[in-house]
Amino acid sequence: MAMSVHQRPGLLSRLREERFDLLVVGGGITGAGIARDAALRGLSVALVERDDFASGTSSRSSKLIHGGLRYLEQGDVGLVFESVRERQRLLKLAPHLARPLSFIVPVFHHSKRSVLVLDLGLTIYDTLAAGSGVLRHRAFRRDALLRHEPLLRKSGLRGGVRYFDAQTDDARLVLANIRHAHRTGAVCVPRLAFERPFPARGPVGGAVLRDLTDGSEIEVKARTIVLAAGPWSDEALGLWLGHAPTRPLIRPSKGVHVVVSRSRLPLSHAVVMSAPDGRVVFALPWPNVTVLGTTDTNYEGPLDQPQTTASDARYLLDTANAHLDPLGGRLELEDVVSTWAGIRPLAIGTRDDTSGTYQTSREHVIQSDPRGMVLIAGGKLTTYRLMAAETVDAVLKLLPAERLEGVLPSPTARLPLPGADRLPAGRAPLETFTAEMCRRKRCTGAVAGRLVLAHGSDADAVLDLCRATEDGLKPVLPGLGIRWGELRWAVQEEMAMDLVDVAVRRLPLYFYAGDRLLDVVPEMARRVAHWCGYEPSRAADLAAGLVAHIEANRVVPDGPGD
Ligand code: FAD
Repeated sequence: MAMSVHQRPGLLSRLREERFDLLVVGGGITGAGIARDAALRGLSVALVERDDFASGTSSRSSKLIHGGLRYLEQGDVGLVFESVRERQRLLKLAPHLARPLSFIVPVFHHSKRSVLVLDLGLTIYDTLAAGSGVLRHRAFRRDALLRHEPLLRKSGLRGGVRYFDAQTDDARLVLANIRHAHRTGAVCVPRLAFERPFPARGPVGGAVLRDLTDGSEIEVKARTIVLAAGPWSDEALGLWLGHAPTRPLIRPSKGVHVVVSRSRLPLSHAVVMSAPDGRVVFALPWPNVTVLGTTDTNYEGPLDQPQTTASDARYLLDTANAHLDPLGGRLELEDVVSTWAGIRPLAIGTRDDTSGTYQTSREHVIQSDPRGMVLIAGGKLTTYRLMAAETVDAVLKLLPAERLEGVLPSPTARLPLPGADRLPAGRAPLETFTAEMCRRKRCTGAVAGRLVLAHGSDADAVLDLCRATEDGLKPVLPGLGIRWGELRWAVQEEMAMDLVDVAVRRLPLYFYAGDRLLDVVPEMARRVAHWCGYEPSRAADLAAGLVAHIEANRVVPDGPGD
């Protein structure tokens, strides 16, 4: 079912005309998961996002679906167990969006933890995942470890362990949830901001929204409202209350990632490194690049545009240089291809409020207002499905009895996400689908492999669109594997409305290419404007938007907010 900017006027009409059981504010993973869960249970649902879907924290994470080894160290066995179970569900229900990834933890002479201690910790981790089919961890002596990961720094290396977790594309995970909600009848609209509820007192009747594409005001009738505004939760609660909350719900913490070329750091495994302050930093292998992240620092700057400072970048590069031997010598600031910075919406009040951010738990808070509002904040990508089900349960308590007839329990623990619905059962579903697609569609393994990895079983429809598009199968840039037809898919099926939506969140073009992307920005803008049905003159604005994004994500000198 198509979901594009061409459908937006129709969706806005539905917002004006219908009365919804639930209006979700925020199109990150939390809001998207809630909209999908509620729609699948049979509620009438609208979701509004003031920017693009996943434009907040949900496109700026480390993109891991993980149990969280360090929660184990903090003694939070419950959280690890819950996360590991959710990881297993996603590996099964969305194998294109949760792919197994092996991690190596090297142990050096100066390391805080010995191989023995890690072996013990990972035995508990494996036990929590027992029966899930994920490979168990293994300890290695120095030489065997180096055979697995030759780029590990040799001096002082004693040995290490290997374990398994999963890697995702966070923005595409959000999109899959939004698309499923859309298919199930929910009205999900980007560039629409929640401004205030109405009436000002008593049970809620709906909300006043602002269409940010033309400044117009829209009133939507809704029986309940969920605020899922991530780092903006305090601001959203202020809009609901009509005044600033007395006590903040969120403590913002900034997390930065830097991307370097795979030719400098061609890792076979993710590597778990220990920064000088003891924090864990990952080196993560991606198809074309290697990602280093993340930092975790208290943040008081503007929530809309956190930036990567020189000290953030140096912290990550120095940590990588201390654990790895990059090809061609030490990694320097000039090696940074692209960056991203995100704000963790750490919920205050779930744990020790006074500790530094690194100790703060990722658990979430859910608060209900009997007037008809539920607020959810905190949590993590990995456990979004559980958070969504719990939030919808809280919404049901606020709905009138007649609206609850026929409402189902949450079905999301067993329903595949879009892109997994036509994958074959059994082991290696992506590989089997790719081989079948090569035969069925007469295409190469390279084309099918890339499309299946990104789009799952939608890959053959994406290929059809590539073939129906002029130069659709041509790579956008040599060596990137991403083809022009995929940009058209982003516009026609995934509601991309501008070039940043396309090149940062629907496709990892910016992360892979950084400044190289500037060469094709005018051509991308011309094509995207055409597919969106905009006047050709708007192409220049689209191009300027992406150039501004690239500029804003350059490494900057240290600032006062950090
Ligand atoms: P967001 O994604 O920020 O969504 C909130 C949305 O609300 C925004 O898009 C915003 O535009 C919208 N909004 C705000 N106000 C309004 C309004 N008035 N009207 C309409 N819309 C509004 N978790 C993991 O499980 N694995 C990881 O590897 C991981 N790594 C991380 C690394 C970093 C650096 C960070 C910062 C976080 C990481 N997390 C990870 C945590 C995870 O990314 C977040 O918990 C999650 O993305 C938060 O999603 P959200 O939907 O609550 O918030």
